[in-house]
Amino acid sequence: MRLTSRNACQTADQLDSLHDLRKEFRLADGMIYLDGNSLGAQPHAAMRKAQHVIENEWGNDLIKSWNTAGWFDLPSRLGNQLAPLIGADPNEVVVTDTTSINLFKAIAAALDIQARDPATAHKKTIITESSNFPTDIYMAEGITRWLDRGYHIQLIESPEDLATSINDDTALVMLTHVNYRSGYLHDMQYVTAQAHQHGAMCIWDLAHSAGAVPVELNKANADFAVGCCYKYLNGGPGAPAFIWVPHRHQAQFAHPLTGWWGHAAPFAMQTHFEATPGIRRALCGTQPIVSLAMIESGLDLFARTNMQTIRDKSLALTDLFIQRVEHVCASHQLELVTPRSHQHRGSHVSFKHEHAYAIIQALIARQVIGDYREPGIMRFGFTPLYTSFTDVWDAVEHLSDILDKQLYDKNIQRNVVT
Ligand SMILES: *Cc1c(COP(=O)(O)O)cnc(C)c1O
Repeated sequence: MRLTSRNACQTADQLDSLHDLRKEFRLADGMIYLDGNSLGAQPHAAMRKAQHVIENEWGNDLIKSWNTAGWFDLPSRLGNQLAPLIGADPNEVVVTDTTSINLFKAIAAALDIQARDPATAHKKTIITESSNFPTDIYMAEGITRWLDRGYHIQLIESPEDLATSINDDTALVMLTHVNYRSGYLHDMQYVTAQAHQHGAMCIWDLAHSAGAVPVELNKANADFAVGCCYKYLNGGPGAPAFIWVPHRHQAQFAHPLTGWWGHAAPFAMQTHFEATPGIRRALCGTQPIVSLAMIESGLDLFARTNMQTIRDKSLALTDLFIQRVEHVCASHQLELVTPRSHQHRGSHVSFKHEHAYAIIQALIARQVIGDYREPGIMRFGFTPLYTSFTDVWDAVEHLSDILDKQLYDKNIQRNVVT
């Protein structure tokens, strides 16, 4: 369906089966929030949850809450709630630490598995993309330097180079499923199979996928995955991240952050580390419980729909955005960075422009919230749980008005966070 008027968008919103979920989020009147890929909106339930956790669990019950409020089990309970969204089985996911730290664990464990197997011990290359989110590359750099065993990182320039780059020296292929900048969506099953053909392991970062696009980790036979809870999962700023270790790798999953939460008997207070048999071996230490508890409010909302419904709406929203921008801003040298093909498009759309930062700031001043990423990229995230078709229509009207009348300050100072 092609939406060619604001009225048609309003009708599409009325017919949208996700329309009711928008009411579950706190979104200021008049704000068009297109940054849920960076920080998800607040579910109303999170406010009630925060009140309860701080007032009752921490305030009244104090230390007892580790048992009575289920604080101790929270990382695995949330992991099990998240599992169906990413094609994981029960007891394969924990919510804990940050994406960067979880990547460290996954890379370390993967290299350890490879190094201990005589068939793969010679492998020294870690392949990732130069356009990967910097922290992913930095974490791989940190671990290879620290291990000092001759590993090196090969940065490929484009997804098409993957097939020719993976070879018998490849230990690890580490990719972000949906690229944070371009929105390019990798074919997880295909890439994982290519890695496996050469005896390499495959780690997926789902930061821009979880809650945004259907993910089938087990079906793809992926090796490890990590991801973020404060983006499309709406878990709150700095919410702990998650790590997935499939049952088939859990016994061998040995990472060096061997803190007491990963111990088989954390309260036996033994002098030696012994990893717990299941997914909880991916834990390290005590979690920020207040922040962790907020994630449940975001995840609860996904139980009222399914990832295919979310995907269908996401593609309709991004199609509409691309069509409208290309139609009404045609004279303004905006370059679409995001793939047109549905097969390779995530849930955000990026356009390049010489004055991208200034234009984004002008949009934000009008309560149309997107963000800026180097180099020269305006990024707009579409969150099917709360973004409406009318939002998309109105956002493009603002964008074209700002461009037509040059209502942006080319010399604007950059904020620390862009
Ligand atoms: C958002 C994001 C991160 C964030 O990492 P933190 O450790 O939570 O700060 C990491 N990787 C990718 C690909 C991301 O998009």
